[in-house]
Amino acid sequence: METRKLLLTFVKNVVERPIVYNLVKEFDLVINIYRASISEEEEGYMVLDITGPTKMIDAGINFIVSQGVTIDNAQKSFRWDESVCTSCSNCLTHCPVNALHIEDRKTMKIVFDQNICIDCMGCIPNCPFGACGSIFQD
Ligand code: SF4
Ligand code: SF4
Repeated sequence: METRKLLLTFVKNVVERPIVYNLVKEFDLVINIYRASISEEEEGYMVLDITGPTKMIDAGINFIVSQGVTIDNAQKSFRWDESVCTSCSNCLTHCPVNALHIEDRKTMKIVFDQNICIDCMGCIPNCPFGACGSIFQD
């Protein structure tokens, strides 16, 4: 038995499909949903744990992917929109791991490193231009 945490992204025409129901019924997995939301564009997001024998989890994941659902292995809900970032630097002191940082002291351009972001959301209320956000934001 093992438990895996997944962040799933459902595109518009997949949102209505009973994915979780099938994971329970067809693959005998135990599902614990932490968060779920549907964006204005009708894209769906879900963070969940799936628990069961490794073989069944792998089969369940293959099923999820076959349904057109994307699995985000990074499991991060934070999103940074470079196109609206003004490099104002306001977020820098609110990012505990320097995932948002200055790339080049000459240009003072801000960049984002998703690999080290810990999804703390500390930057979101401190970004005046809406470049920092979460897929679970209202
Ligand atoms: S979510 Fe947290 S770790 Fe990630 S960029 Fe924002 S402040 Fe930094
Ligand atoms: S606070 Fe927002 S706009 Fe300013 S540098 Fe950070 S991400 Fe960019």
